[in-house]
Amino acid sequence: MCNIRLLLPFLVCLILIGYTKICGAESGKMGHTVIIFSGHVSEPSSKVDNMGAESYAGIFEYEFNDAVVRYFEDESNRVPGIHYEVVPASRNIGLHERVEYANRIVPDLYLEIHHDAAQAEDIERARQDGEGSPLWNDMSGFSVHYSESNPFSEKSKTFAQVFADKMLRAGFKPNLYHADTEKMTCIDRSKGIYNRINPGGLYVLYNIKSPAAVIECGTIINPHEEKLLSLEDTRQKIAHAINRAIVRFFEIEDEDSLRSYLKY
Ligand SMILES: [Zn+2]
Repeated sequence: MCNIRLLLPFLVCLILIGYTKICGAESGKMGHTVIIFSGHVSEPSSKVDNMGAESYAGIFEYEFNDAVVRYFEDESNRVPGIHYEVVPASRNIGLHERVEYANRIVPDLYLEIHHDAAQAEDIERARQDGEGSPLWNDMSGFSVHYSESNPFSEKSKTFAQVFADKMLRAGFKPNLYHADTEKMTCIDRSKGIYNRINPGGLYVLYNIKSPAAVIECGTIINPHEEKLLSLEDTRQKIAHAINRAIVRFFEIEDEDSLRSYLKY
């Protein structure tokens, strides 16, 4: 008599082969496209576009964003089977144009890389107190932003959760300044995940017709964190966290697709 436990892996394989043939997917992460945009532009040509925050040492944010984004320009830093569209700030694609750009490609995931600031008066107070001021502790950490107004808000939130997990595991701390001082909607304080609903929404997040997240890698107006974020080692850790999150996100996506395929 045949043993059903021995046959089970074989049956699962058959179902998976059937599923991938029907859905046109080769396997797991294959066939997915990710757009990774560097936040801001290097040469602003309109009022809505700028070079981003200015770090404690006076370096514009787009340079920090580009330093992380550049990792994904290198084929050896890409996850095999995933198609990356990498757009550095030097392409000078403004806010409205980047939404049009993304909606033409319709990626499976849209990511925008940023580095964070704080309110001018808080920065000024801490600056006057000096580099050793405890006030800098309040303006520190990474965060990840999605919007429930995005047509794929649940998927966007899933990516945010997965990414935050990878960053925490890599030793980064969440930013709570946005929640405590700016009263943004933080859905998980332990992970620094923000739902950007209006007022205070982010144009890209609710206009892009794909799952989307804005990543604030860290806080560059904080002198201590700026030094860390300038290190190649830190930038590599962030890029690895992004890649690990992309892989996990598509695994979850594919598991969900398989589950709904098996249901019908
Ligand atoms: Zn920014």
